[in-house]
Amino acid sequence: MDRYICELCGRRFPHSGDCKDHPEEPLQDLADEDVRIMLDDFDSARKRKRLGMLGAVCAVVLSPIVIFLPARKIGLMAWIAASGAAAGGLYKVFPARRVLPDLEQEKPGWLS
Ligand SMILES: [Zn+2]
Repeated sequence: MDRYICELCGRRFPHSGDCKDHPEEPLQDLADEDVRIMLDDFDSARKRKRLGMLGAVCAVVLSPIVIFLPARKIGLMAWIAASGAAAGGLYKVFPARRVLPDLEQEKPGWLS
């Protein structure tokens, strides 16, 4: 697989330079560990943001659990657990964009 990647669209190129679709975005060199760490950070931040958003939506949708369950404490715990589980399930359907490729699996020659 190609060594250079566009952070915006995740497309890979065999040479450094600019992405065809994003000429303002210089390609990142995946052989550089700092670049891989940076892309992983961006991926994690997007995932956290997406999970937080889904969690908030689920918490609102599932809020009747707190209102209708008679035992306050159990209702609150059930609400939090259900919101987390629902957000995790929704994340599988609506995952955040992931740019960093699975290089462990690719084992490209330029990666040392
Ligand atoms: Zn691009």
